[in-house]
Formats: sequence, C-alpha cells, structure tokens
Amino acid sequence: MKRLFLCAIPFALLIGIGAYNAEPSGSEIRIYSTDADIHPVVARLNRRLAREGLTILVVDVANDADVRVKFVDVAAGDPTNGGASWPYDGRIEIARDDNEDLATTLLHEMLHCAGVGHEYDPTSVMYRESGARRQLRPHHVSALRRLPGITTPGRFIAQLRTFFY
Ligand SMILES: [Zn+2]
Repeated sequence: MKRLFLCAIPFALLIGIGAYNAEPSGSEIRIYSTDADIHPVVARLNRRLAREGLTILVVDVANDADVRVKFVDVAAGDPTNGGASWPYDGRIEIARDDNEDLATTLLHEMLHCAGVGHEYDPTSVMYRESGARRQLRPHHVSALRRLPGITTPGRFIAQLRTFFY
C-alpha cells in the first residue's frame, strides 16, 4: 500500500496542474472586505478593468470570495507602502494612508494572488515599487482570469508557476 501511496502523489499533482492549465475563462472576481473603503477602490478598478471584460464584485461572505482585503493604517513616514499579500490563502492588506493609487495597489496584490511575481519593467503594474502610470499587460489579464473560483490547491499551483516564469 505504501508503494501505491507514493505513486499517487505525483499523479495527483500532474492532474492538478493539468486541470489548472486549462484555458482560464472567469470574468468576475469576488472580493470580501468588511471595510467601506473597499467600494471607491473597487469602483475605480472596475472602470480600468471594464475594457478587459473583467468585473470585481464585493461580496458579504468571506467563503464566497476569491480574495479578502483588509485596510491597515501605516504610521506617517513608514517606508513600507502599498500593500502585502499572502497568496496561498488569498489575503491582501492595503495601507490606508498610502499616497499611491489604491486601485493600482489592489491590482498589484491581486496579481500576486494569481501567481504573478515582480517584473523589471518600470511601466508594469508588477514593478516592485508603486507609482503613477503602471500598466496592465495582456498576460496580467490572463492571470486575473484564474482568480474566479480559485481553490486552495489552485493557489498553491499558481505560486508554483512563479518559479517557472
Ligand atoms: Zn509586490
């Protein structure tokens, strides 16, 4: 029985990766947040994502959400800006007093949750530092389409993929 078990693990991984590689087609990303600050940020992001055929919906139940967003207060002069994400469980934190565009910060952290790492191009939304005019690229849109209905194994595989790209 032990031999069978050892065979089953890589098999399950292959099936999982195969299923995950299927063309992603989700168009509605669900966000859970108890903070009213989420609404203007999502409204702004939705205007930006409309041309990509993507919509963000704020939901009332955490278990129905693809990502969960919490706003945190950052002390004045704190060099840590923008946001942070725990991609494995879909948690995002956004600094409330950030001078940057919070919609771009949310987009950046959502892309981490979709398995996208930092990019060297300073005009990319995935550049390490936040700033004006960060652009969303076609491969970012494809990655975002993986988020609707994402599961815990899906999150794991999304992070695994970052090692290969
Ligand atoms: Zn980042």
